[in-house]
Amino acid sequence: MKYWREPLDLDRIKVTRGRVTVVLDRCKGCEFCISYCSRGVLAMSKKFNRKGYHYPEAAEPAKCVNCHFCEVICPEFAIFSEDISDTAG
Ligand code: SF4
Ligand code: SF4
Repeated sequence: MKYWREPLDLDRIKVTRGRVTVVLDRCKGCEFCISYCSRGVLAMSKKFNRKGYHYPEAAEPAKCVNCHFCEVICPEFAIFSEDISDTAG
């Protein structure tokens, strides 16, 4: 990311890393999580769940920053993220 000026506390900011999980059979394929993830982590799978919907999967898992926005916006409580900052390299 390019800053118009470098933040004074940049060296103290640690970006968190997340791992996103989809509860496949709850998903109704609305794509809200994909549209609103500003990091472009998610993409629609070609596979179907038991309800007959395509569901999201982590196409770019390393980009997830554990912001939980996909989790908050999902109307079916079908996706969540966890902090893996300590384990990610
Ligand atoms: S937690 Fe944030 S960055 Fe990670 S997949 Fe969800 S919306 Fe995207
Ligand atoms: S927002 Fe929820 S229901 Fe909609 S596609 Fe994403 S996981 Fe599925």
